[in-house]
Amino acid sequence: MPELPEVEVTRLSFASRIAGATVSSVRLGKALRWPLGCAPASLVGRTVRGVRRRGKYLLIDLDQGLLLLHLGMSGSLSFAAQLPLPGKHDHFEMVTTQGTLRLNDPRRFGAVVYAAAEDADVARKLMGRLGVEPLSDDFDVDSFHVGLKRRKAAIKQVLLAGDVVVGVGNIYASEALFLAGIRPTVSAARLSRSRVARLHAGIREILTRALNSGGSTLRNFSSANGESGHFQLQTMVYAREGEPCRVCGKAIKSLRQGQRSTFYCPACQKA
Ligand SMILES: [Zn+2]
Repeated sequence: MPELPEVEVTRLSFASRIAGATVSSVRLGKALRWPLGCAPASLVGRTVRGVRRRGKYLLIDLDQGLLLLHLGMSGSLSFAAQLPLPGKHDHFEMVTTQGTLRLNDPRRFGAVVYAAAEDADVARKLMGRLGVEPLSDDFDVDSFHVGLKRRKAAIKQVLLAGDVVVGVGNIYASEALFLAGIRPTVSAARLSRSRVARLHAGIREILTRALNSGGSTLRNFSSANGESGHFQLQTMVYAREGEPCRVCGKAIKSLRQGQRSTFYCPACQKA
């Protein structure tokens, strides 16, 4: 599943190349997770102002309205002057004067949704509960601590929920908790300020490392210029059940939390 670093790397790979382009045509494939919400033909003639990211959404700003694009579980974007004929998993295609943007999404949990404005109902419904951006200046230890204090659920679950801090998905949550020495099952509300500070630093470190390396490619992510964002994060705990901890040598354990696998070191991560 593409996570925040992959989405950001995807954005960087085509944002400057599509900016200023005029939409020539829009083609839809099979239904995605949510409908486009406008007639494809109504987008023709509009100009792409730029591409921003909010959480795991890409916001393609048009001179009138915007497109919210989500890669879902298996989506990947291509943007090029010439693309091969659309395949059976290509479900959205926007031809512009500067190239064609195409969404390939075999599992179709992704979506492209038109919103008349960022505060339109549809945009608010999709993005309204997103927490602070983890790499922005707004993400500071004190407000993070305040946000966690209100939540009794396990810290890993609270991170994944995305309403305190956005975009810390399954891999990065496990890794950040390891860096902070925090057991994933600890109640968020019980974390002391010093542990929250360590977690804050761990989240920034792991996301920055992933971004710098082009996003992790645990599945089929590829950036929008066709090359795969070829980065295998050398994980400390994620997907390493039974293997020795890289710090202390004890066997990494796993457990299920909210239908997702969590990995941790029983010695390095205290309750
Ligand atoms: Zn360990």
